[in-house]
Amino acid sequence: MAFRFLAVPAHRLVNFPQTLPDDERLEPELPPVHEAVERALTGAEFRDMRAKDRLRILLQGDRPPSLGAPETGFGPSAIFAHPPQDLPALLRLADELENLARREAGERALVWKCGDCGARYAVPVALVRQVSIRCERCGTPVELAATRSLGEESLIDPFLGAVNHSRRELAAFFREAMARGWPVLVAEDKRVPRTQPSA
Ligand SMILES: [Zn+2]
Repeated sequence: MAFRFLAVPAHRLVNFPQTLPDDERLEPELPPVHEAVERALTGAEFRDMRAKDRLRILLQGDRPPSLGAPETGFGPSAIFAHPPQDLPALLRLADELENLARREAGERALVWKCGDCGARYAVPVALVRQVSIRCERCGTPVELAATRSLGEESLIDPFLGAVNHSRRELAAFFREAMARGWPVLVAEDKRVPRTQPSA
């Protein structure tokens, strides 16, 4: 399920099928990969419930949402969090997201290159032992000694990078919405994935 978060002042909420105002709204800048956004929320809780479960109940539960859509192509919006009663829970969720991002960005690797063919070898720092391996590509021995490595780099892949970026964006967005006293809304993205124009 692809969804979209936004916040607008409470006095500007309208009912579906109207669209929420776009001259006064807050939105996190999330990557277009909705799997990354969904993954960003995995493992985070809101009011003793998994954040993703709350989204599902709000958007696909027995009582359909009734507030205006963020724009054409989106379903009606539901209130995810309302200040001031949800302020502590939302700030805790923001904390959780930042902690998850920090923890998962933490894995570092040491990198070596084969002296002959240039093949790269990366080993997580915690697993580095001084050993000699044979290069997979050319068979030349490569000494995996920390002192001879090319340095440290992050093991993070682009997808996880997008996940962590989403976590930080969402955390900042939740804090800003609560600071302004605006309700946080969520709506389902019902746009059909665009197809290639035929030649
Ligand atoms: Zn080699």
